[in-house]
Parts: sequence; C-alpha cells; structure tokens
Amino acid sequence: MITGKCRCGEVTFEFNATVSGVTACNCNVCRRYGALWAYGHLDQEVRVSGDTSVFLKGDTCEFHFCKSCGCVVYYLGNPLESNGLQKAVVNLRMADDPDQVKDLPIDHFDGLDTFEDLPRDGRLVKDLWF
Ligand SMILES: [Zn+2]
Repeated sequence: MITGKCRCGEVTFEFNATVSGVTACNCNVCRRYGALWAYGHLDQEVRVSGDTSVFLKGDTCEFHFCKSCGCVVYYLGNPLESNGLQKAVVNLRMADDPDQVKDLPIDHFDGLDTFEDLPRDGRLVKDLWF
C-alpha cells in the first residue's frame, strides 16, 4: 500500500497494488506538472478523498488538484473502460514516504509526439526527485 497526499493534506490517495514502473510523460500537461504516475482504477487499486479542482485536458483526462495548496494529486480517465472501470492514476510525487517509491524504475511515455512507450533508461524515481 502506498499512501499520499497534497502539501496541506486535504487531498489524499491510497494505492493498493504492486507498482512495477512509474510513468514520466512529456505531454504539454505532464511536463509542466512534473508528475510521476502510477496507474490503477478508481475504487479498485486506487482510492481518493478530498475536495479538488479539476483541469480537463480535452475530454479524456481529469487532472485533480488541491484547491488550497495546488498540488496535482491524481487524474481520472474518461470514458470508462469497456469493463466499466475508470482509470485512476496517482502522482507518486505526493507519496507520504519518498523512501517507499524512490527505487521504482521510470517508464518514459512520449505523450507529446508518438503516444508510445519508450524503452527504460535505468533512471529511478529518486533520479527525478530534484
Ligand atoms: Zn492541499
């Protein structure tokens, strides 16, 4: 179980699955947020709570951020998947315990041009912290 929250603590997540890789995306939203994403489904692997504001990217991605401190905590995918589940993706930069996620490998996703996964290059979450 990985837990996380925004700076002020209003918006929280629980991620209850094994994380094999953390996605860094270069799309025109993610590169600005600097988010490191772990993928699951709402009310399955991922539970969220707290009052958020939403930025809608097109009609497919809802980025949820804290109204008070501005942290981007998670995004939800639309429409629902064919199995009726909603993609829920948490930002591991919000992890309560950075040591718990620091050694996870980074998966690079080219969300800017090709929309393809790129090969791993050996970098870990701790290499992108700062
Ligand atoms: Zn907050």
